[in-house]
Amino acid sequence: MDTDATGLTTAPIPVEIALPDKQYQVFFDDVVVGTDRLLGDEGDGLRVVFDGLNPERIMGASLCNGVGRYVLGVAASYASGRAVWDGVPIGAHQGVAHPLAIAKIELELARLMTQRAAWLHDHSLDRAAAGEAANMAKYAAAEAAAHCLDAAIQTLGGNGMATEYGIADLWGVVRLLRIAPISREMILNFVATKSLGLPKSY
Ligand SMILES: Cc1cc2nc3c(=O)[nH]c(=O)nc-3n(C[C@H](O)[C@H](O)[C@H](O)COP(=O)(O)OP(=O)(O)OC[C@H]3O[C@@H](n4cnc5c(N)ncnc54)[C@H](O)[C@@H]3O)c2cc1C
Repeated sequence: MDTDATGLTTAPIPVEIALPDKQYQVFFDDVVVGTDRLLGDEGDGLRVVFDGLNPERIMGASLCNGVGRYVLGVAASYASGRAVWDGVPIGAHQGVAHPLAIAKIELELARLMTQRAAWLHDHSLDRAAAGEAANMAKYAAAEAAAHCLDAAIQTLGGNGMATEYGIADLWGVVRLLRIAPISREMILNFVATKSLGLPKSY
């Protein structure tokens, strides 16, 4: 429907994270939708909606992968130049290097699963496989991005909070991607039920 349709109203939801888009609660009161606004076939709307879910998850995973790559780059650069106490770059210490290395491995695994999900969505007729991969990619990428950003902030010490280095303000969107567009718990429910054949928990 058009955003100025009669009966469609919105109420802004203020949020505490930096996002390019605004959030709204949306109300539909006797909205009349013309047939020229029909997407897909009449009576088949749910399938049309569901067709959009996998790409949304793949897009969310890709966003997380990009943030992960960016913040690890910032952290690696900083850790190669910053020296504390001993004149040795902090990146030479395993206590700094290993969390970044672990995050890098998680990130690359997430990127592989994201590419697999995107390929299945584009090329495979196996919708179940595409859905499974999209869910797994989104889960893996959201977790990886959170670990990358946390390790990066720790690497920069106090500068991790400095606006100048541009990483702390990514925490909101990274944390959001563990919740939306589908929460990590619902992905785990999906994998438990669909991938492992376990009884449904809800
Ligand atoms: C900034 C932002 C933008 C958003 N944009 C959109 C949008 O554009 N379109 C849209 O449709 N939605 C949007 N959402 C909503 C988002 O998809 C939901 O918030 C998300 O799916 C979680 O649903 P919920 O908030 O209803 O949490 P709830 O369903 O109330 O869940 C609360 C908590 O309980 C857990 N939980 C619930 N049920 C179970 C269970 N059976 N087993 C285990 N754990 C469970 C959840 O994982 C979660 O941690 C947005 C949310 C945010 C914050």
